[in-house]
Amino acid sequence: MGKLVFWIVVAFVVLFAVRLYGAAQAKKRRELDAAHGAAGPMVRCAKCGVFLPKADALKAADGYRCREPGCLPKP
Ligand SMILES: [Zn+2]
Repeated sequence: MGKLVFWIVVAFVVLFAVRLYGAAQAKKRRELDAAHGAAGPMVRCAKCGVFLPKADALKAADGYRCREPGCLPKP
């Protein structure tokens, strides 16, 4: 009986350790995502070639444009 209780305790300790490890990995992944992907995907301005976050770009007929006055798509 004591042996059974021992193995149950071991099983819980192992499950707890696996859970802690998984949580640490998930946290690391979230931090990496925040550092890398905060600005989202980058796109290239079709006029001047500068790279900018897609969220800041304007969609034009020939691709994306930055917000420089000379690059703004004609209405
Ligand atoms: Zn541009």
